[in-house]
Amino acid sequence: MSKAVSFHIDVKPVSVTFTCPHCGREVTVPWRELDVPECWGDDWGYVECPDCEMEVKLGDYEYD
Ligand SMILES: [Zn+2]
Repeated sequence: MSKAVSFHIDVKPVSVTFTCPHCGREVTVPWRELDVPECWGDDWGYVECPDCEMEVKLGDYEYD
């Protein structure tokens, strides 16, 4: 009998959500459409709002 080990459930980000400053809607952008910086502390650049198609500059993020 081997000893049970505790384990970590790995999660991967699927999308980001933010309130668009142009149209005021809460929108979700799929992760693959983001220009994710190698280091998350770097500049995330711009992303297109899926609702109004305006460019939105990404600032600080929350991750949980
Ligand atoms: Zn918008």
